[in-house]
Amino acid sequence: MFNAPLLKTINDVNTPYYYYDTKVLVDTLNALNKASVSKNYHVHYAMKANSNIPILNLIKEHNIGIDCVSGNELTLALKEGFEASKIAFAGVGKTDDEINLAIEHDILSINCESIQEIQVINELAQLQNKVANISIRINPDLDAGTHPNITTGTQLNKFGISVETLDLAIDICKDLRHVNLNGIHFHIGSQIRSEMPYVQLCKKVNTIVKSLLSKGVNLDVVNLGGGLGINYNDPDSEMIPNFENFFSIFSDNLSLPKNISVHFELGRSIVGQCGSLITKTLFTKGNDLKQFVIVDAGMTELMRPALYNSFHKIQNLSSTKPAKMYEVVGPICETTDTFDKQVLLPETVRGDFLVIRSVGAYGEVMASNYNLRVKPLAYYSLN
Ligand SMILES: *Cc1c(COP(=O)(O)O)cnc(C)c1O
Repeated sequence: MFNAPLLKTINDVNTPYYYYDTKVLVDTLNALNKASVSKNYHVHYAMKANSNIPILNLIKEHNIGIDCVSGNELTLALKEGFEASKIAFAGVGKTDDEINLAIEHDILSINCESIQEIQVINELAQLQNKVANISIRINPDLDAGTHPNITTGTQLNKFGISVETLDLAIDICKDLRHVNLNGIHFHIGSQIRSEMPYVQLCKKVNTIVKSLLSKGVNLDVVNLGGGLGINYNDPDSEMIPNFENFFSIFSDNLSLPKNISVHFELGRSIVGQCGSLITKTLFTKGNDLKQFVIVDAGMTELMRPALYNSFHKIQNLSSTKPAKMYEVVGPICETTDTFDKQVLLPETVRGDFLVIRSVGAYGEVMASNYNLRVKPLAYYSLN
């Protein structure tokens, strides 16, 4: 349920703002640990989903590592006290500065996405007199069946090294003195709500690992990425994702030697449900075809609907009148600045507070200053 104590203070705070229910986050982290620790699976939090300090701190307290995708994320993770040995660094276009930073701090693995990147890492590590731990991100050519804009694991996507070029990449690594290839990495997409893509991934991983071991590659780490989806349609029915079920897919379908450690990089499923966006109704207007509710949050605070056509549940916190059909839109000068074209809300009037649910992941982090708007503040529940 949307946390009630907030309603007492809601009037004192300028909208729009993000609100994080830390109890939901802690419950989620405990469920995650309960499900992963028993299987000896290692979890890294994909901090691009939400990099707010209080959230990172709770995640760190639960002994979870970090998956970062930029040098600044790496710097923040280190600053907040995450151990370098628990940090993985992915990204299809890392700059020399970013690579140097990762080499300097001896992180768990730099996940390489092209042969050229491996060669550059080798050169930069040589200049630092170091050996960099690297994993190869393999593109398993597998369609996770999610929104095209968040599919990552097919040949048509820019990510990773193809299975066909893997042998060449390994041969090249063998000749390089300053990289230590000790792992492989996958990440097939996001908001995955069915088991099938993960079952298929496990089968590919089993085959690839067998082949690599037969070629004498010394594998310590198999990193299966993230992508576990959350329930956007009915968040209250599923505030905490079913991590038990998720990890069971892997324990049932992976067959790897015991000495290989298995890693995951979860973002959305960890922070998605703890965040809400609170917004106020500025105006209402309508005609025979449509009734608009114009709110003070827009795509500048929450870009997902405009970017991915994504759905977020919207509720009116101020009204209990009989429901009407509305289109809820933001104030930005873009037609895509629409949160939901058809939402049943209690009759809504100027001044009513609305909550947009399930925005903890890829919400606040994507906020922009477009239209010279000021980025929203974040508030946290006090439990
Ligand atoms: C974004 C990302 C993740 C996390 O994805 P979620 O869908 O939020 O779990 C994991 N690994 C990599 C490499 C990513 O880019």
